Amino acid sequence: MKIAFFSAQPYDRRFFDQALQRDFADAGLEFTYLAPTLSADTVALAQGFEAICVFVNDQLDAGVLATLKGYGVSAILLRCAGFNNVDLDAAKRLDLFVARVPGYSPEAVAEHTLALVMTLNRHTHRAYNRVREGNFMLDGLLGFNLHGKTVGIIGTGQIGLATARIFKGFGCRVLGFDPFQTEAFKALGEYVTLEQLLPVADIVSLHCPLLDSTRHLIRHETLAQMKPGAMLVNTSRGALIDTLAVIEALKSRQLGALAIDVYEQESQLFFQDRSGDHIDDEVFLRLTTFSNVLITGHQGFFTREALEQIAQVTLENLRCFTERVACENRLA
Ligand code: NAD
Repeated sequence: MKIAFFSAQPYDRRFFDQALQRDFADAGLEFTYLAPTLSADTVALAQGFEAICVFVNDQLDAGVLATLKGYGVSAILLRCAGFNNVDLDAAKRLDLFVARVPGYSPEAVAEHTLALVMTLNRHTHRAYNRVREGNFMLDGLLGFNLHGKTVGIIGTGQIGLATARIFKGFGCRVLGFDPFQTEAFKALGEYVTLEQLLPVADIVSLHCPLLDSTRHLIRHETLAQMKPGAMLVNTSRGALIDTLAVIEALKSRQLGALAIDVYEQESQLFFQDRSGDHIDDEVFLRLTTFSNVLITGHQGFFTREALEQIAQVTLENLRCFTERVACENRLA
């Protein structure tokens, strides 16, 4: 079976080739790694392949899916957990197999969340540069103790739970908001409503999926409900946040600090070297001007352990498809 990888990076090749040689050498799989992101403009590259493997910013709307079907593609393998970029209703109508990799390494994203919080709070990114320049002044590097602070986790699934566990280890009081409550989270923290969480949390961390109901969950009204000066962290999906509203809240100082690993318009920027270009996203550029904003380019998942797991589970999903056996990670 021939499989085309869209949005392929060197590390995708490395981990998928390793998994192929280690556990799937006899499966008759042939991989082609393609750099372009999948969209209506690039879908023609899928001709001649029976399956495609895609990532977070590949666009699989109804039109792209219909074209894929027409080319003879029958399986779509998401090498990620989120699936907001796939029109699942259209995929079902077209009888396409779609599977994802849920919860591949919740600790990878949880630990990155803490890396962002710790960096933003204790300004280690600024201290690093100062020390290299021989500037040992501390002014501007003042942080706060995490110990004793209240952290609000929105979405207490696998990543939210792993994040809550780490904050608990720092001595934080952990609050959670999730329509689906778990005993595992109750052992660490307390479930409250969103209206109860926002006014008391010193740090609000987003870990829910992007759905119609969660799009712009953080907007003017919810920002106004937050504790003045609180820190907002988003390692989930960019569109959970109304970025323009967040910029207003940063300007008014209602929001004390912002750490994001995801951005609503990230597909135009992330996973590419744009250092020699003009970046014309004025909203993104405005965000970069705040000293209390920290941005990483969707790297929460980027650990060895997570990439090994992603490759392994993606190929197991494909095996389920080729052997026509039930796949617990199937979405359509
Ligand atoms: P999960 O399915 O285990 O947990 C998501 C939780 O969100 C569930 O408990 C669900 O009930 C809850 N939820 C749904 N609607 C909600 C709402 N309106 N308010 C509050 N909670 C709500 O998923 P996960 O593995 O923990 O992943 C969470 C998200 O993290 C994914 O959807 C994905 O977008 C993102 N993610 C980011 C990276 C990264 O590299 N930055 C990597 C993996 C996943």
